[in-house]
Amino acid sequence: MERIFYELKEALSQPGCPLCSLEKDAERRYFDTLFYELVNDPATRQKILRGGGFCPTHTALIFEERNSILGIAIIYWDLLGHYFDDENIPLSCPLCQTLKEKEQHLLSILQKRWTELKPLWGERTFFCTRHLQTLQNGDTLKEEIMALTQKSLHTIQQHLSALIEKFDYRKSHLPLQEKETLSWQEALEFFAGKTLKKERK
Ligand SMILES: [Zn+2]
Ligand SMILES: [Zn+2]
Repeated sequence: MERIFYELKEALSQPGCPLCSLEKDAERRYFDTLFYELVNDPATRQKILRGGGFCPTHTALIFEERNSILGIAIIYWDLLGHYFDDENIPLSCPLCQTLKEKEQHLLSILQKRWTELKPLWGERTFFCTRHLQTLQNGDTLKEEIMALTQKSLHTIQQHLSALIEKFDYRKSHLPLQEKETLSWQEALEFFAGKTLKKERK
């Protein structure tokens, strides 16, 4: 099957929310391609202009990732120049649209190939609060993902307990395990509905 299936398989075995992690990869890929390859592509430029630019979250991400300052300068030269052309344009972020489509695709793969994917679920894998809501109520898939998520959250909670304990000076000589060091970040990711850990794959 296509690449997206293998990406999902890989993400399901890793700590964190698989949909958030694939979303983050997609955002990075989108900006790499946009700023390095498509800056002068007329169709891409039109699409960005028509949508009124990127949403606030993705604009902040452009600032953070700053793939190419020249690319950013060219795209935003365009956007500034057209800002007052038509104030009634409904804003629609082209990256949000792409991500929405990708999410739908991933959910349909999960639905269709769940028996194959379920055994790969990692011990710290969870669906974040945002992605739990994308699952259809009353579905077996939702019930099973909720149960697996609950189990993983319990594991993360145990790692948090160990982390808290080792802040005590009587136990501070005990080495911290990586999963304990990461536990507070994973807890934040569950509520944030996004991958917060910085490392670039
Ligand atoms: Zn998520
Ligand atoms: Zn957006």
